[in-house]
Order: sequence, then C-alpha cells, then structure tokens
Amino acid sequence: MKPIRMVDLAGQYEKIKEEVDSAIAEVMNTTAFINGPAVQRFQKNLEEYLGVKHVIPCANGTDALQVAMMALDLKPGDEVITTSFTFIATAEVIALLHLTPVLVDVEKDTFNISIEAIRKAITSKTKAIVPVHLFGQSVPMEELMALAKEFNLYVIEDACQSIGSDYIFADGSTKKTGAIGHVGCTSFFPSKNLGCFGDGGAIFTNDDALAEKLRVVVNHGMKVRYYHDEIGVNSRLDSIQAAVLDVKLKNLDSYIDARRSAADFYDRVLGTNSKLIVPARYEKSRHVFHQYTLVANGFDRTKLIAFLQEKGIPAMIYYPVPLHLQKAYIDPRYKQGDFPNTEWLSENVFSLPMHTELDEEQLQYITGSILEFLNK
Ligand SMILES: *Cc1c(COP(=O)(O)O)cnc(C)c1O
Repeated sequence: MKPIRMVDLAGQYEKIKEEVDSAIAEVMNTTAFINGPAVQRFQKNLEEYLGVKHVIPCANGTDALQVAMMALDLKPGDEVITTSFTFIATAEVIALLHLTPVLVDVEKDTFNISIEAIRKAITSKTKAIVPVHLFGQSVPMEELMALAKEFNLYVIEDACQSIGSDYIFADGSTKKTGAIGHVGCTSFFPSKNLGCFGDGGAIFTNDDALAEKLRVVVNHGMKVRYYHDEIGVNSRLDSIQAAVLDVKLKNLDSYIDARRSAADFYDRVLGTNSKLIVPARYEKSRHVFHQYTLVANGFDRTKLIAFLQEKGIPAMIYYPVPLHLQKAYIDPRYKQGDFPNTEWLSENVFSLPMHTELDEEQLQYITGSILEFLNK
C-alpha cells in the first residue's frame, strides 16, 4: 500500500509532471516572471471556469481578503461579521485594518456560519459579512445575500477552501462559490483544492468599478506608473505559479470528483456508526471536500488520533481553538461559552486524509482502523 498522507501532492504532480514542467520551463525561457502571459492566461481561464467577470490574481488568500476590505473602503470602527470557527486569516485581516470583527456561531451540522446569528449581530455600524465556505461546503448564499441586501451590507466570500463548489439556488440555477457575493477570495496554497507550488491567491468580482479598484490596491495604489492615488499593497501572483495553476485548473473538476468519491467511501463505512458524526451534506451545496471532518460523538478523539498514528494514518484537528479564545484575539466582548456550537466542534472534530490520490486500499485501511478502534 502507498504511504497515507493528509495531502498527497507528490502523487498528484507525478500525473501532470510533463505538462507542468514544460509550462514552468516556458516561463523560465521567456523570463517573464512578473505579470507575464501565463498570469493573464490563467486569469482568463479562471474567469471562464468560475463564470465571473473579473479575476484579480494576488499573492495569497490572506492578501485577497485584506485587499477586498481595502477596496471596499472599509474604515476603522466599521463592524465586519464573520464566523468564530475558521482559519485565523479571516479575522486577522479585519483586525489588521483596525476594523471591528464581530464573531458569530456556526451551525452544528454544516460547521458554517449561522444566518440567524448574523441577523442578530447586525448593528448600525455593520458594513460587511465574511462567510467562510468551510471545508469546501457553501454557506446558504441565497439567504445570506437577501439579508445583506436588506441591511445594505457587503458580502466578502472566503472561498479559500471551496474553489469549484457550486451553490444551487431555489430556482435550480447554480453559481460557483466566490462568484456570488460582492467579492470573493481564494488561496492557491499548495494543499488547497487548486494549489500552486508556493503561495498564490485571487480575488473575484462581477463589479467593473470594484475590479478596477482591486487592481489598483494590489499594485501599490497605482493606476499610472509611479503615480499613487491611494495607499495600496504589493500583492502579485508570479508567472511560474500561474503556469502551474493553469495546468491544474484543467483538472480541477476531476480532482473534485476524486475528493467526493473518497468522501462517499468514508460516509458509507463510517456513517452508520453511532460514535461518529459524518459531515452533513447541505442540499444546496456541492461539497468539494477540502477536508473530510467528523465529530467524535462521546469519546476522546486524541486517543483515536494516537491509535491511527501508530498505524501510519495521519489525522488532524481543524480547528482546535475558536477565534474568540485565541490569545491574540481575547476581547472583553467575548468569553468562553458564547459560541456553544463552535466550542463543541473545536473540542470534538477531527479530519481524515483527504486528497485526489486516495485509493480503495488506503480508504479500506483507514476506515477499517477507525472501526477497529471504536469496537475495542
Ligand atoms: C487558507 C485559508 C486562508 C488563507 O490563505 P493563504 O493563501 O494561506 O493566505 C484564508 N481563509 C481560509 C478559510 C483558509 O483556509
């Protein structure tokens, strides 16, 4: 059996090695390292794939979120509502820009931000909502967009874990996550569903004026070279990364299928065990399984993780500490017990290996080992 990894980037690279290597060599030969044709090509192809008018490439997913907030002219003191159960980057950029993060709880079953909780958290200072499509499953975007419209708020989608996932509207039409809100953000960190060979990110929007503003902000606040109309940042996707991403984008749908069939296997074997809660599939979302995350129902997950480790099976905890209990984010507005679903999940979730290269033998071994532990 092949060794089991949380993410098998080597196995995935092996299958597209020739194409990727020649795409990289082309960039090397032309030395168009910054903003070369590879970047423009990838940008166009991603716009087409997502069905979005503008893709603005940038250096990473964290920058994508920060630039989105800068381009929307959010000002110190403005309140931005987001989830208490996510990767830190989401709240980090809010804090860095001296905006006020307002945290709300998640739904127990989908791990995603609660629309009802958002409604209760809206004040006269609220300017934006940042939903995170956690682990690759969409937030109820139709309800969220209606709520945002009612209160005239911006929606900045954190689609760092959900690229390629569809949201299904009540009328049956679909849109890709990240292409539904006013602006969407993603990351091309190597382990993400569309990952490059280093750091990368992108911002999406259908709004022409906002797209222009985003392009100015990522480029030192500059429209005409050496004339700076506002304070910006330097955030670029380099040409080598774009060349790699362009090859991988062609395979993204088959990568998603591979992840979904691994998830189906896990569901089938583990879904009937009362000690495990397998990830809920929200019917309006096509889950792309950035992570396959379960809840340990009444047993100590650390014992299971240690047992699996012994057998050569990695497992991880995403995320062990909710945002409101992180040392750097301690805030008198929040205390332990404020977000019961988030806290319960932080204490009980664990994630299994999830990537495009898992085979039946590995999946059988992983699930068999988990059942062996539970039946001890
Ligand atoms: C990965 C990730 C980010 C940040 O992306 P980077 O490219 O690592 O900066 C932001 N939000 C979420 C939910 C993520 O998973």
